[in-house]
Amino acid sequence: MSLYREGDPIRDERAPDGPIEERWDKRRFGGKLVNPANRRKMSVIVVGTGLAGGSAAATLGELGYHVTSFCYQDSPRRAHSIAAQGGINAAKNYRGDGDSVQRLFHDTVKGGDYRSRESNVYRLAQVSVEIIDQCVAQGVPFAREYGGLLDTRSFGGVQVSRTFYARGQTGQQLLLGAYQALERQVAAGTVEMFTRHEMLELIVVDGVARGIVARDMVTGEIETHTADAVVLASGGYGNVFFLSTNAKGCNVTATWRAHRKGALFANPCYTQIHPTCIPQSGEHQSKLTLMSESLRNDGRVWVPAARGDTREPGDIPEDERDYYLERLYPSFGNLVPRDIASRAAKNVCDEGRGVGPGGLGVYLDFADAIGRLGRAAVADRYGNLFEMYERITGEDPFAVPMRIYPAVHYTMGGLWVDYDLRATVPGLFVIGEANFSDHGANRLGASALMQGLADGYFVLPNTISDYLAAGPLPKVEDDHEAVVAARTSVNDRIERLLAVGGDRTPDSFHRELGALMWEYCGMERTEEGLRKAIDRIRELRAEFWSGVKVPGENEELNQALEKAGRIADFFELAELMCVDALHRTESCGGHFRAESRTPDGEALRDDEHFAYVAAWEYTGEAPVLHKEHLEYDNITMVQRSYK
Ligand SMILES: Cc1cc2nc3c(=O)[nH]c(=O)nc-3n(C[C@H](O)[C@H](O)[C@H](O)COP(=O)(O)OP(=O)(O)OC[C@H]3O[C@@H](n4cnc5c(N)ncnc54)[C@H](O)[C@@H]3O)c2cc1C
Repeated sequence: MSLYREGDPIRDERAPDGPIEERWDKRRFGGKLVNPANRRKMSVIVVGTGLAGGSAAATLGELGYHVTSFCYQDSPRRAHSIAAQGGINAAKNYRGDGDSVQRLFHDTVKGGDYRSRESNVYRLAQVSVEIIDQCVAQGVPFAREYGGLLDTRSFGGVQVSRTFYARGQTGQQLLLGAYQALERQVAAGTVEMFTRHEMLELIVVDGVARGIVARDMVTGEIETHTADAVVLASGGYGNVFFLSTNAKGCNVTATWRAHRKGALFANPCYTQIHPTCIPQSGEHQSKLTLMSESLRNDGRVWVPAARGDTREPGDIPEDERDYYLERLYPSFGNLVPRDIASRAAKNVCDEGRGVGPGGLGVYLDFADAIGRLGRAAVADRYGNLFEMYERITGEDPFAVPMRIYPAVHYTMGGLWVDYDLRATVPGLFVIGEANFSDHGANRLGASALMQGLADGYFVLPNTISDYLAAGPLPKVEDDHEAVVAARTSVNDRIERLLAVGGDRTPDSFHRELGALMWEYCGMERTEEGLRKAIDRIRELRAEFWSGVKVPGENEELNQALEKAGRIADFFELAELMCVDALHRTESCGGHFRAESRTPDGEALRDDEHFAYVAAWEYTGEAPVLHKEHLEYDNITMVQRSYK
């Protein structure tokens, strides 16, 4: 049987035409508004309280809609966004170093290897400026220069300094800002908060998204919630690899359930591998730790020039070191984009020049920066990151170089959305990392926070009114057949998981699936490897459904049950990721096909055949591929070069 079949092409019908800089204004003006008195009669479900969902729920509440907000943590402020370290981009040009909306747009499209939509990315660059103002007004304590202006630093893939930051805790500070705004609406009664609730199904009535089925994770009660529209802000799915820098709870269930109900899933194989993570220390590990990309502003990446050199780093003289990023990419040096830095690290390790246990590491060295700026200045910029590194590895980065290695970090793929952030199921909107986003095949650093907050504070609140203006929709009763069917399917699945009665933990299946994905659908992919992975994923999934052990009951806090449900969805997603990676025989961004490379080993795109978004339809059998052709009228597609 063929692995997939091709269906009709798909188009984004909502981005206006005309000059790119006027499109967002044009769309806002063209969209219908909902009068404030009518907003009170309308309800919106927002799944997720990270930067995307938190900012969206707060803004929709402020606008006067009735919002129900869900997260599986015990507090909205524990969403994974809190982990973001390095910063958030904005085209403010405070430094006067040549930045502009046009340049941020250009850098983002180029950084994504020409696989994102021009209209969306341009809007993102425009809105970036407003985000910083909004967050400053909320009291987010961005770092400031001596004169009081907000400070900035550089991130990979750019030559300007446009990243705003709050030491190494930018996500935490931004999330506290969004959380305050959210809690204000909770107190005002416009937002109703459901913590420790996990969405397990989307309710679709007559083809329209009208609600969710959620499990109360403390009591096990299965609840249904209905509304006029549903917004998914449920984050990324990097944990399909088991080991990643994501919080352990991150999963694909919310978007995967919507996919099974008709929402197309776009570019699932586009995964970001981040070059600066603490290397894995052993088999026991269940999570990897990111060292922020901001460290590459001052840290120099190197390995010994000779293979098998096991001397201590301090004993290796300058002329026997290879600062390979500076050598290979002199224009960008240590600040090349993540995909390029990750592959370069893998290459030097494959050559036998890696450092640390197993040779899977490269040095990130601050000796020059400490000499140039002084220890205090370096501590001021990166103090908490250095402390975190020392706590985990027992090594002091002020004294010896850090050891780093690439790890799974972010997923550019996600549910397909149009310019209005609508999925292909009417009434369903998707924001933040959960959608297929504006980052093409590779996200530049500090741009996920920018996109999540752009979606939540500025884009969705505008575009959703155009949809809601036709409402309020007729109320959906709890005994509606679509609601009953959704609730029944959730109950059946839980019973099925509890009934397997095997002898392997959910985690052990997840670990094996993750290892398989890392090996065959990780940093480098080949046709042979991907085919092998698909066969093994299918076998492993069958073993899971006959061999998993889920102890306990539904009617209690049951983490094994939660995990098992999420892993069952990861199995289905993993297969689609491999099919997507297999069909895209070009290399682009984070998707490196070994068969498609330039003579000097760089990723080789195939614009003639692959300049499209791959949007996959769920059928229960072979998925159907719908192509959204990408047009570039404002940017010329060229082979990326950071040399
Ligand atoms: C270690 C680390 C550092 C990073 N640093 C940066 C950085 O410096 N700059 C940058 O731009 N980006 C950074 N990123 C990326 C960025 O943090 C994320 O992409 C972004 O925060 C995602 O935000 P989100 O709101 O889309 O999702 P999340 O913050 O992941 O929130 C998801 C929400 O959905 C809820 N949820 C999920 N599924 C369900 C369900 N089934 N039912 C109910 N609720 C559900 C969760 O409870 C949570 O509230 C970093 C990522 C990592 C891993």
